[in-house]
Amino acid sequence: MSEYAREQARILVERLGLKNPPVPVEKLAKSLGVRIEYNPFDDELSGMAFLRDGKPIIGVNSKHHPNRQRFTIAHELGHIVLHRSHLETAVLIDKSKNFMIEEGKNFIPRNQTSAEGSDPLEIQANAFASELLLPAKLVRQVLSESTGDLHDDAYLISLAQRFRVSLTAFQLRLDQI
Ligand SMILES: [Zn+2]
Repeated sequence: MSEYAREQARILVERLGLKNPPVPVEKLAKSLGVRIEYNPFDDELSGMAFLRDGKPIIGVNSKHHPNRQRFTIAHELGHIVLHRSHLETAVLIDKSKNFMIEEGKNFIPRNQTSAEGSDPLEIQANAFASELLLPAKLVRQVLSESTGDLHDDAYLISLAQRFRVSLTAFQLRLDQI
């Protein structure tokens, strides 16, 4: 199931033909007809995805760090691309604890509106987001061009910053590549 999610993200990102990071995730979402709305939510709320008059909307917590907002947009875009049928009947709300970016792994979400066991949805949306923001091709390219020590946190942070993702998200991706 995650592999399907990753494949969908790969298709979208390859279409952009990027030579270098970062992946322009906001632009990509807009090009897919998604409206992004920034709101000062409570800190524990990262974002949400829903339909308004049939149009997909992503709500993002404007108080969070820009890199985290990018992850939220990518994650919610995953819901819109992969889980459209769920959006027809529910608002998907993402609390921070759903996100691997926070905890390093997936938790069963305390999803208020989608009662039908949505954990697989979160795993898929996270896999989609990781693949979208950190395409294997670009990560490998950046690694091959640079000569730093991957055990050096400062160096890893500088690489993560090139992709505009958190250190945690970058490290998780390195483990997969
Ligand atoms: Zn989610």
